[in-house]
Amino acid sequence: MDLVEESPYRFRIDRHDPMRVPGVVFASRSLLPDAGADKSLEQVANVATLPGIVDASYAMPDVHWGYGFPIGGVAATDVEQDGVVSPGGVGFDISCGVRLLAADLDRTELDGRLEPLMDGLGAATPRGMGKGAVWHLSKDSELDAVLRGGSRYAVERGFGVERDLVRCEDYGAVDDANPAQVSERAVERGARQVGSLGSGNHFLEVQAVEEVYDDRVATAFGLRPGQVCVMIHSGSRGLGHQICTDYVRGMAKVMTRHGIHVPDRQLACAPVSSHEGRAYLGAMAAAANYARANRQLLAAAARKVFERETGRGLDLVYDISHNLAKIETHDVDGARRSLCVHRKGATRALPPGHPDLPDDLRDVGQPVLIPGSMGTGSYVLTGVPGAPAFASTCHGAGRVQSRKQAVKAERGQDPRRQLAAQDIAVRGASRRGLAEEMPAAYKDVSAVVEAAEGAGLCRRVARLVPVGVVKG
Ligand code: 5GP
Ligand code: MN
Ligand code: MN
Repeated sequence: MDLVEESPYRFRIDRHDPMRVPGVVFASRSLLPDAGADKSLEQVANVATLPGIVDASYAMPDVHWGYGFPIGGVAATDVEQDGVVSPGGVGFDISCGVRLLAADLDRTELDGRLEPLMDGLGAATPRGMGKGAVWHLSKDSELDAVLRGGSRYAVERGFGVERDLVRCEDYGAVDDANPAQVSERAVERGARQVGSLGSGNHFLEVQAVEEVYDDRVATAFGLRPGQVCVMIHSGSRGLGHQICTDYVRGMAKVMTRHGIHVPDRQLACAPVSSHEGRAYLGAMAAAANYARANRQLLAAAARKVFERETGRGLDLVYDISHNLAKIETHDVDGARRSLCVHRKGATRALPPGHPDLPDDLRDVGQPVLIPGSMGTGSYVLTGVPGAPAFASTCHGAGRVQSRKQAVKAERGQDPRRQLAAQDIAVRGASRRGLAEEMPAAYKDVSAVVEAAEGAGLCRRVARLVPVGVVKG
């Protein structure tokens, strides 16, 4: 793959047939994926062939291989020019995302209280495969309400406060959810998992604010140095996974009828305006609402434990997804166009002044939540004006080792002890599960964030360090 360095944090893959637009990779030289081990840059070029794609096929600095689309990829298609939507451009964990809550509590006040707090959080957070959930739905109509109402419905039922919704992307729910387009199998898989973490990479972490880069913005977000926070990373569980599976299969069957040819079967797609495209977007929106309700419920469980163990509440800083397609209006070559923006392992980053921001964030921009790893740190960023890639940035550090490689690298060592030696308390997760998620499995999150900022995608606001983690 030939890369042209356009500027220090921006590389171009020149357009060649059958690409419709160039590829653009935001990264430093040392963050570029190793072409021998990871085919994600080929995937960036493949995505550039999709009908209706505008501008470029983008990769964020945390890019790595994914199903069809790379993880850390952004692609927008023009809805009015037969632009397509692709389930692989959203990913299997629809609306997987991150929620950050902040306590009116200083890290030093946790001295002597951390172990019972972590025990409580561990016990209150359903995790792993099929091991219960915060919410036991009493009837089918309740799941329907979750799929339509997302966090709004969870708050209505007492799992949170109105103010939470102001600090949720889309005020806690996306419009246009169509539960009728969700298969019975997907409903079956999702019904017993509302309010559960899931496995592996998903977590609930107690963190402390280690560094603030911008006082004014941090204050507006509700963050200050030394403060204790809780970060939750989870998504739409079996429901989203099944929807992705269903629609990849369904679209693969009708692609030729729509005159679409793609270089990789995993890029199955259909025009946004087609029957299949609209059905997928309706089902995807339902899964997005499920994911938001899921994080709302996990937060409600954590708040109870926090209040009991520390006497303090948890205020929502923000809740944002990093696997989603959204119909948004953007300037393309000087014209306003309606685009289907796919962000897969990429985070929306609205700049200051954007009309979709709540009043109390209007002057500072959207909080962008970037988990790093359970052993290193995580970041809070904000959007910047005039950024490329449709107001998007990275979503994490990004994997460099496959799960298998990570387990092999940890052989003979005890990951729990290694974390304990760093004073990081761990709950949940098997030894293998922890080994898969050790910091060495991921890129250096600070380098990723530096590249994202250097490329003009976002700006740093604060850095958080792990204190204790409940792993899925
Ligand atoms: P993904 O959504 O791609 O599964 O994960 C997003 C990011 O979360 C990963 O790229 C990684 O940087 C980060 N991550 C995974 N596990 C943990 C964890 O236990 N704690 C923190 N803070 N970050 C994690
Ligand atoms: Mn996920
Ligand atoms: Mn995720």
